Amino acid sequence: MAEKIGNVWVFIEQEAGKIADVSLELVCKGRELAAQLGVKTEAVLLGDNVAGCVDTLFAYGCDNVFLAEDSRLEPFTVLPYAKVIMDLIRAHKPNILLFGATLKGRELAPRVASEKLGGLTADCTDLRIDDFEDKKNNKSYTNKLMQIRPAFGGNIIATIVNTWDDPQMVTVREGVMKLDEPDFGRKGTVTPVEVKLTDAETVIKVLERVRADKEVDLKGAQIIVAGGYGVGSKANFKLIYDLAEALGGEVGASRAAVDAGWIDHDHQVGQTGVTVRPRLYIACGISGSIQHCAGMSESKKIIAINTDPGAPIFSVAHYAIVGDLNTVIPQMIKAFKAKA
Ligand code: FAD
Repeated sequence: MAEKIGNVWVFIEQEAGKIADVSLELVCKGRELAAQLGVKTEAVLLGDNVAGCVDTLFAYGCDNVFLAEDSRLEPFTVLPYAKVIMDLIRAHKPNILLFGATLKGRELAPRVASEKLGGLTADCTDLRIDDFEDKKNNKSYTNKLMQIRPAFGGNIIATIVNTWDDPQMVTVREGVMKLDEPDFGRKGTVTPVEVKLTDAETVIKVLERVRADKEVDLKGAQIIVAGGYGVGSKANFKLIYDLAEALGGEVGASRAAVDAGWIDHDHQVGQTGVTVRPRLYIACGISGSIQHCAGMSESKKIIAINTDPGAPIFSVAHYAIVGDLNTVIPQMIKAFKAKA
């Protein structure tokens, strides 16, 4: 008799009861994978007083929510979270477990994977179900999770398959998977989880949490003005801020600008930064490396300003402005203000 396939699980990240967008994106993707496998989509929701999140999870496609509520699970610390998730994995044997590639996900997923002695593919940009032929060992597998991610600095796209143990675990970049429309008419079940923790697992205490003054919301921004190494200096980034302010947008950056210390990493767009899909992306003094384009090429309209007519950014741009950003940006601001 064929072995029963386990369900698709999504670790739900929440902060004060607000679910992270990436978790909802993964619920939508998880639902698609589960439909192909003929299994259920289940959420793993940990925290204190978080039951209010359940209806949203149903609306985005969860069939069941494992709900672990305990004051020791708030705020997030990795040891108790890993313990609760490991207990759940042993009891229910999921087939697939998806984490967001966020600060929390990147800390938690490897901890769970090493405890389970399972595999983990980090920073996936796509996932699908397929059969897999292991020609070397003359074995074939059906319905495995194809874990797709850029490798070797983005020069190849690798497909990774875990054939040795379930759950097949991955982290997925924020903003990569599509968010479907929620259906608040959908309902599911809640499985309460008994939280069993030792003193050793709760040894880390969070004494204070300090929020950054202003959080950068690149993912939610409809307009992004991004500066690269061509901006030339930290002081000159004022031009990028001025244009963003004139258009009511956020400021993005290439890694070269971040590495030069001209702007914080929170603003970085690309393979090791944020993936964005704004209505308008203005790339100023950015060459258009494969790693940068990986994070912005799906923007609805792209304007690129570059002195080099052969810059690769022009191959993804809808509008190309060959020119010096020090001349072009002030003209754009002036023209926009004259129209506004
Ligand atoms: P450059 O490549 O130096 O380009 C500067 C551009 O500015 C040039 O095209 C030049 O013609 C133009 N210019 C110069 N002066 C002016 C002017 N006055 N007016 C107009 N144009 C001007 N990069 C990212 O951005 N995001 C990532 O997430 C990322 N992840 C990476 C991950 C890995 C594993 C690796 C290996 C690299 C990654 N990179 C990433 C780095 C990436 O390869 C490039 O080095 C980087 O994107 C280059 O940034 P840039 O285009 O600003 O700089």
